[in-house]
Parts: sequence; C-alpha cells; structure tokens
Amino acid sequence: MPPSAIQEIMPLSHWMSLPENRPLIVAGPCSVESQQQLKTTAQAIVAGKRVQVLRSGVWKPRSKPGQFEGLGEKALPWVRQVSNDFGLLAAVEVAKPKQVELCLKHRIDMMWLGARTTVNPFMVQDIAESLKGTDTAVMIKNPVCPDLHLWIGTIERILGAGIKKIIAVHRGFFINKKSKYRNMPLWDLPLTLKKEIPGLPLICDPSHIAGQSKLVAEIAAHALALNMNGLMVEVHHDPENALTDPLQQITPQKLHDILTELLDCNTAQTPLHKLKAIRNLIDENDYGMLELLSERMALVKEIGELKKVSETVVLQTERLKDIIADRQQKAAELGLSTSFVNEIMQLIHKESVAIQST
Ligand code: PEP
Ligand code: MN
Repeated sequence: MPPSAIQEIMPLSHWMSLPENRPLIVAGPCSVESQQQLKTTAQAIVAGKRVQVLRSGVWKPRSKPGQFEGLGEKALPWVRQVSNDFGLLAAVEVAKPKQVELCLKHRIDMMWLGARTTVNPFMVQDIAESLKGTDTAVMIKNPVCPDLHLWIGTIERILGAGIKKIIAVHRGFFINKKSKYRNMPLWDLPLTLKKEIPGLPLICDPSHIAGQSKLVAEIAAHALALNMNGLMVEVHHDPENALTDPLQQITPQKLHDILTELLDCNTAQTPLHKLKAIRNLIDENDYGMLELLSERMALVKEIGELKKVSETVVLQTERLKDIIADRQQKAAELGLSTSFVNEIMQLIHKESVAIQST
C-alpha cells in the first residue's frame, strides 16, 4: 500500500475515547434475536465499564439456507436505541450496499465487513462506493482464506472511498486441517499486516477463532500479549439458547471475568504471557514444518515407485550433492546457520532413501 494512503488511516485514539490507552472492546450478541435480548445483554455488558462498542448482527451470513438469517432492518432501531441508552457505539455487519444505506438511515456508528465479504472484491468495491462521503467507522475482518493481499486489498478499497476510521479484525482462517479451533489463528498473518501497515488499528475476534466458549479467554490473552489493539467478543445473556453461534458466545459474566483478568490484572502484558503467546507462534510454525515434511515424504515415495519401474538406483550421490549445496545457499540467504541446515538435510535425505528402499 502506498505510504500516503497508509497515513490516511486515523489512529484509534483520535476518534475513540479509550481510558488510558486501554484496548478497544467491542462486545455483543452474534445476532439480535429480540429487543429484549439485546437490552439484557447490553445492560450486563456495560456494567463492567470496559466496553465501548455494542456489536449486533442483523444480517447473518449462513453457510446453508433455511437457518436464522437475522431480523434485518427491523432490528436497527433497537440497536440504535439500546446503544444510546447504555452509552455505547453501535456496530452492525454489512454485506451489501443496501445494508449500508439502511445502517446510515438508522445512524449506526460503525459497520463491519465479515470474513465472507472481504473475500469478494466486487462486493467490497460496491460497499466502498456506498460508504463514500460518510464518516462511518469500518471494521474489516480478515477473509475466510489466509490471503493477506485480499485483506489489504479490502482495506485499500475502503480507504479509497475516503473512510479514515478503519480497524482490521483478526478472526482466524479456514484451512482444511483438524484443529481445536473453529478457525486457525495463523498469528503470523495479522502480525505481518501490522508490519506492513503500522498505523492500522488491529483487534482480535477470539470468538470466531475459538468456536467454543471455553477457548475464548486464551485466544483473547494471546491477542493482547501480541499487542493487538482490542477485542471483538460475542456475548449472549443465554448462550445455550442463542439462535446463532451458541457454542462460542460467552455470558456477560464470563466477559467480565476475562476482562478483569486481562485488563485490570494486566496479565496479558506480563513476560510470561508474552512468552506463551510467542510459543503459540512457534507451535504453528512447527506444525507447518511437519506438514511440509509429510508432503515431502509423499513425493519421495512417488519418486521411489518411478525408480523401481525404471530400474534406477535409489541413492543418487550427484543429486544429494546438488541438494545440499542448493539448500545451504538458501539457508545463508535466510540468515540460518549452513552447518545446521546441512545436518537437517542429511537427515531428511537419509529418511528419504530409507523410504525408497523399502
Ligand atoms: C460475525 O461476526 O458474527 C460473523 C459472521 O463473523 P465472521 O465474518 O468473522 O464469520
Ligand atoms: Mn457469530
């Protein structure tokens, strides 16, 4: 992104009043189910005095038809009223220009683009056009797939429409691998985003990463330990009976407990917590390395079959020499010790030969 565009992004502290540079907390139900539900949840949320923004899903992007898709426009006056009543800013997800228009009509302060919208540049551009000339704050979730360019592209399109109050939201990524999380955090990605656009406020949505209420706290702690600027948390007064995302929504009491621990006791900022968060990054890296190794060995097996049918000997010393020289050069470029990489490659090669010799 050109540096001039990056400078357009307003620092969070210029438009959001956050006590003593505390993290921004956005909280509220996954979806509005009734006026009373929104009121009950909001009332309980503000009691802790740590939440600035009430999130309310009004149009719900469901994977399959026939499920609760939100109450639509009918819920917008409630969102406005309840936010006013409790001194919160109102935030609603928008996925098309018509929804932006309705949110503007009902004076919704902030809108957010969901993970299923951020993947679609046509839709993002249309939404950007409909935001032109407004002072709306826009939160931009990462796309469902781990594509940093798509995320940055969405930010550029919204910025291009003259919107200066922008917040990126890390909500994890769908990758086709087994995990205890609903969406893989892939912490490296939001951290790279922050490096590329340093002035961009970045918050974490631990609810959509966790997928289960019991994992929300640990993800929230990691995010703050990695210096993210805030959290967006799904909160419901009766999660078990929620019409959407019942497994991951937490009660206002649970939110209160998490925020007391993270903000008042400041646990996320202790060296031990930071260490834990960085260990998480290392775990992700190690898993990535092991997956690559497993893919490599599958290729080795395939070559083994070809060697058998073409009656080629398994051990090819020239190829080994080439591999070692090439990987050592690559290692040097990456700032790694060449002798260390030599050892690893020798071991991998040994294992490959063993696989092909069986
Ligand atoms: C949501 O915030 O309720 C939502 C649908 O999230 P995401 O776009 O991250 O899936
Ligand atoms: Mn949700």
